[in-house]
Amino acid sequence: MAEQPVRLSPALKQATPVLAARGEGAYIYDEDDRRYLDFTAGIGVTSTGHCHPRVVEAAQRQVATLVHGQYTTVMHRPLLRLTERLGSVLPSGLDRLFFVNAGSEAVEAALRLARQATGRQNVIAFQGAFHGRTMAAASMTTSGVKIRAGIGPLMPGVAVAPFPYAYRYGMTEEEAGAFALRELDYLLATVSSPLDTAAFFIEPVLGEGGYVPAPASFLAGLRERADRHGALLVVDEVQTGFGRTGRFWGHEHAAVRPDILITAKGLASGFPLSAIAAPDELMERAWPGSQGGTYGGNAVACAAALATLDVIEEEGLVKNAAQMGERLREGLVRVADAHPVIGDVRGLGLMLGNEFTAPDGSPDTDTAARAQRAAVEHGLLLLTCGPHGNVVRMIPPLIVTEEQVDAAMDVWERAVADATA
Ligand code: PMP
Repeated sequence: MAEQPVRLSPALKQATPVLAARGEGAYIYDEDDRRYLDFTAGIGVTSTGHCHPRVVEAAQRQVATLVHGQYTTVMHRPLLRLTERLGSVLPSGLDRLFFVNAGSEAVEAALRLARQATGRQNVIAFQGAFHGRTMAAASMTTSGVKIRAGIGPLMPGVAVAPFPYAYRYGMTEEEAGAFALRELDYLLATVSSPLDTAAFFIEPVLGEGGYVPAPASFLAGLRERADRHGALLVVDEVQTGFGRTGRFWGHEHAAVRPDILITAKGLASGFPLSAIAAPDELMERAWPGSQGGTYGGNAVACAAALATLDVIEEEGLVKNAAQMGERLREGLVRVADAHPVIGDVRGLGLMLGNEFTAPDGSPDTDTAARAQRAAVEHGLLLLTCGPHGNVVRMIPPLIVTEEQVDAAMDVWERAVADATA
């Protein structure tokens, strides 16, 4: 065979020019040993920081013991231990788990379960949501057309209702929540009959779509409609789970009960692992053999997840996320007050977004991109999000310290000044 130069697909878009050599805590080091403060956490994954010694040790021990305990062939202890351990953090009543590898796969599993359990076909998702890139998950994803363009036809049976995006609508959170519920009722009366509607899929904080928290009144309204219509409330906590929002689960801010909970990212500190949780009576309605996967519940990932849960608990990371989140928010609001181009600072815990807006109210994608790039040049890794890419988001690891938050704020101030100069 001829030797040929091979390159990565251009479909993969990289947000920074950094070539990472190693990670330690809240920092990434490049091949020249330049240090970057990582306020991306691998898109909200490395909550315990890069290479937390406890996670590394647990994973190393498991690698030398059993890597691929294929769970539809043989069962293994790390998976059983993790299942039991998650009992201490899952919402009460959600006592059955199914594991896969990625967020999208867990979304697919939740959809499969929702359809089987209700015998209904339709799902309602919310505008701006990101649920993943696999075809069914992409069909429920409207965080930006780049995810959907050119790959259709997408899965039928998905109706999209407005998300209560208060800033975009120029409303208060309460008004936006009430508006979105009215529109949802309208959708149920015009597009997707309650008799056909299996589930509502909702992110407690819109993630890729712009870091917009769902008002508590809206989530409570969804719960009420799910009960009224016999539909399921499926809460996608892939990005908001495991302490990210300053509570263990994002939906706790609204005190609503999910029927199906989807988790991934923060669960295993960077090892591929995701899960859905649901009450026994619901999981019991899944058709045997209808869920599975070659790599799901990988033994090393499970061992890493067990260590991750220990670290979250022992180091008080949920509380730290709430406290550092407040400090970070105060800093971001200060910068926004000095720079009118940042029209909105919002989010929960350590999941905060800065929306850049032009004087006429339109999205200011260019300035947001310049600020993100300038921050990276000054040693702070950041990502943008939102359909127009005009929201710069901050998702530091949950181990972040006051000093690191303050250092990030110094860089952010300079980056925004550079971008608006
Ligand atoms: N749901 C949400 C809320 C997400 O944020 C993401 C990833 N950004 C996904 C699902 C998909 O996860 P994955 O990329 O692991 O498939």
